[in-house]
Amino acid sequence: MYDLVLKNGRIYDGSGMPSFNGDVGVAGGEIVEIGRITGSANKTLNLDGLALAPGFIDPHTHLDAQLFWDPLGTSSCFHGVTSVVVGNCGLSLAPAKPEDREAVIKSFVRVEAISRRVLEEGIQWKWTSTKEYLDALGTRLGINVAALVGHIAVRHYVMGEEAVEREATPEEIEQMRRLVRQGMEAGAVGFSTNQNPRHMREDKKPVASRLASQEELGALLDVLGEMNAGVVQLSGGGADARGRISYAADLARRTGRPVLWQSISHSWSRPNFWQEMLINTERVFKEEGLPIYAMTQAKPFENRYTLLDAQCFDEFPTWRAAMFSPVPARREMFADPEVRKKLRQEAIEDQSPSTFPRRWDVIFIDKVKLPKNKSLERRTVQDVAESQGKDGLDVFLDLALEEDLETRFVHITTQGDPKAVCEILKHPSVIVGQSDAGAHMGYDARFGYCTAFLGRWVRDYGIMKLEEAVSKLTFRVASLFGLGDRGLVRPGFAADLAIFDPATINTLEPEYVQDLPGNETRMIQRATGVYHTVVNGEVVIENGAATGAYPGRVLRPRRWKD
Ligand SMILES: [Zn+2]
Repeated sequence: MYDLVLKNGRIYDGSGMPSFNGDVGVAGGEIVEIGRITGSANKTLNLDGLALAPGFIDPHTHLDAQLFWDPLGTSSCFHGVTSVVVGNCGLSLAPAKPEDREAVIKSFVRVEAISRRVLEEGIQWKWTSTKEYLDALGTRLGINVAALVGHIAVRHYVMGEEAVEREATPEEIEQMRRLVRQGMEAGAVGFSTNQNPRHMREDKKPVASRLASQEELGALLDVLGEMNAGVVQLSGGGADARGRISYAADLARRTGRPVLWQSISHSWSRPNFWQEMLINTERVFKEEGLPIYAMTQAKPFENRYTLLDAQCFDEFPTWRAAMFSPVPARREMFADPEVRKKLRQEAIEDQSPSTFPRRWDVIFIDKVKLPKNKSLERRTVQDVAESQGKDGLDVFLDLALEEDLETRFVHITTQGDPKAVCEILKHPSVIVGQSDAGAHMGYDARFGYCTAFLGRWVRDYGIMKLEEAVSKLTFRVASLFGLGDRGLVRPGFAADLAIFDPATINTLEPEYVQDLPGNETRMIQRATGVYHTVVNGEVVIENGAATGAYPGRVLRPRRWKD
């Protein structure tokens, strides 16, 4: 007698082997049989040829807190995600003594843009150690969770508020090493740190991990090396992306552990830089066999703005001065031909790397205010400039001025060039993810990194076979994080499954819902073409709707104890 039988699926088993038609039988939370199943079952789902794959494993989330009030991890579960990794970017909710909680919240609020009220109302702190945190998390889960130990929490635990003021003493480093070891022994899948120069706390102080010396970071990571366990996750580090590869390689060389760094992505201001990054990553692999992997995202990052609220020009001094001036003075500046010269020089002519694209052919007029300008919508600034015989900057500013600065523009800051994105996603050393699920819920949602990958890139652009794509989202992530019984459809493996239609799977535009603690609003993201999500043998999403089952658990890698 099976608990669950999934009949007539097209099985993509996660190995990359060719898919085949068959049934999958589940008992006791495990896959027990694959092929043609005739025995009876408590529950049978006829898949009618839909794809059946191992559940997707999201390697980069910030659901550390959300899972307490939302054990299903919405919206990840709507995309076929059955396991998530928390504790990324140096941020974890443990270890933390009662007096450290405020420091941890301050870091989460700013770096991940999760509102203070949500965290204060949503977290019932019942833990000090990583073990206690994992036990608390495990009491009610819809999906599975694997956790990294975060450097920021570890530092505050030992140094209190001095963690954001100074380097650690050798004694303090020794205490931190003990906490990392305790966390790993409790079942953490690795250690995360954050050297990103933009990552500050709510009170503008750098997050604690940024004050760590290389000696400290090395000593903490040595714990993973000594235990021969766990993944190192990096946010920032090295002077720029080029430096980050050697930074990651140094840490992999020192510890012998896999290092996951972020990220390789396309940006318009350095349109070929991603290629150099891929080549360098590959070289480290080939020449030294060091397991370093780059994260990338499947969803282009869009920036929508008007000249009333834009932040994308803040990196340029004259633009910044204009944007921080009162609106009447700002209008005067934008109208002044002499100022325009400077604006053009800073944003367009200057060739130094920037987040702003520095070209008008990728900046779109998204929404106009005046009916007479309606025909300009969805055209690029470049296109309009050519048809009017004008310069791009003049078109951009004249239009905005004519509409009281209310014209909305949109451009893609990262992953804007599909050709580049295809090459990045295909690369074997690149991990698809960076969903940041649970973070910056007020202005962006990327839960659907996997449905975007399978829909837009694998189906529409045809960058790789679906078999290989499924493997990239499942088996390879499980392998990287040492999750021994996940990521394959194989007897004896946990029955974590995603059932979807390859012809329609895709991610949908984010939408707002008001369901956070404190009645706050967040963005969620739904998918098309994802039918059922099965976690540890229980259906948690059936035909797109939650069933009320909570079969998730904390995933603790099995380790050899000598
Ligand atoms: Zn992150």
